[in-house]
Amino acid sequence: MEKIKTMSLVEKDQKNVWHHISPYVEEKPAMIAVKGEGAWLTDYDGNKYLDAMSGLWCVNIGYGREELAKAAYEQMKELCYMPMTQSHVPAIELAEKINEWLEGDYMIFYSNSGSDANEVAFKLIRQYHQQNGEPNRYKFISRHRAYHGNSMGALSATGQALRKYKYEPLASGFLHVSPPDSYRRPENMTVEEFNIMRAEELEQKIIWEQKETIAGIIMEPLITGGGVLIPHPVYMEKVQEICQKYGVLLIIDEVICGFGRTGKKFGHQHFQIKPDVVTMAKGLTSAYLPLSVTAVKKEIFEKFKGSEENLHFRHINTFGGNPSACAVALKNLEIMEKENLVAKSAESGEFLLQSLQPLAKTHPNVGDIRGIGMIIGMELVASKQTKKPVSPDFIGKIIQNCKQEGLIVGKNGDTVDGFNNILTLSPPLSCTKEDLELIVSVLKKVLAENQ
Ligand code: PLP
Repeated sequence: MEKIKTMSLVEKDQKNVWHHISPYVEEKPAMIAVKGEGAWLTDYDGNKYLDAMSGLWCVNIGYGREELAKAAYEQMKELCYMPMTQSHVPAIELAEKINEWLEGDYMIFYSNSGSDANEVAFKLIRQYHQQNGEPNRYKFISRHRAYHGNSMGALSATGQALRKYKYEPLASGFLHVSPPDSYRRPENMTVEEFNIMRAEELEQKIIWEQKETIAGIIMEPLITGGGVLIPHPVYMEKVQEICQKYGVLLIIDEVICGFGRTGKKFGHQHFQIKPDVVTMAKGLTSAYLPLSVTAVKKEIFEKFKGSEENLHFRHINTFGGNPSACAVALKNLEIMEKENLVAKSAESGEFLLQSLQPLAKTHPNVGDIRGIGMIIGMELVASKQTKKPVSPDFIGKIIQNCKQEGLIVGKNGDTVDGFNNILTLSPPLSCTKEDLELIVSVLKKVLAENQ
């Protein structure tokens, strides 16, 4: 009886629901989830899965937290909506809390998604330069392999060719440089030398492109969805130095790395840098409600102050800074603090990394394992000598076999054809010791069965 019900739900889903970024294959119906608790999801057939991706790298405090539901309920009863042309109490309190977490002095602009937050950053930085007497600064530089969102500006900044293919032409004025992919560095270079070289290439790009035209650089503290590419600290510190040298603003995209994901409150806090703009979403509410933020240094905001016509930032969205979303974010951060989840992320991530690391020596297809906090990437290669990526079928089978064993893992975004070979883990920061052990044991088993 249950089965019949499930079938009809699958049919209804296939008839009416257009899924995100997924091929439509009737024989491969989507998983229909009905419940989440801790790190675990239950589907309509009653199967349980440990979600080692926290959804899309976002359910940082885990599923099923009643306190967050209560915070949303209470706020909705009290005040369900207020446009951010004015203000409300949760928005004010959250802005203060975010500044505390950022250890900085930023103005907080609310939106709905990570893409929105980056779009806001691009628009306001172009406007800032105009109002700061440098109207020629309009270009943004980002990295190949990075993902910054789905809207025309954020997608233009994205460096994953397959995500843009068929949607071009996109916004103009977006340039890309190579990321520090240390695993694939030339054999005769140390990681540090290679990272310095990549930073110098960025400087060279600024010069070639006419330095007075560059408005900003956007980068994640590490490239996450593009393959878990963790820079040497010297890279980020040099990037900041270059930005300051050429009057270019540094936007750090913390959409994934923020809110404890990397074992610090924000990913950029691993480095000696102070970004001009920080964008954030996902872990801000642990994805219980949509909310994002563009945090902008006060010096930049100064140029938007005053009653003079056309000075203000002419940007609005209906839902950004929704009172219940802000209340949920506040409760989410309160729980992270109470349960010490940032420190736990560092500790649990280290456990995963240390437990999985031996596979890089023993398994013929595990070329590299890298991680920082609760983000792990396992680069799968057909040959360790050539570092040629494994086939999409191979990595697809690993993901499928993990799922059969009750474990959801991910892979890197569509960089270019054939370069989709990095298994990713981004479990809830609240994972128990048993959860972590299960992730390790399933991955070891599945990889041992596939080589
Ligand atoms: N920036 C990064 C680094 C992301 O990973 C994402 C989404 O995965 C975005 C921006 C876009 O966020 P959203 O999907 O909320 O628009």
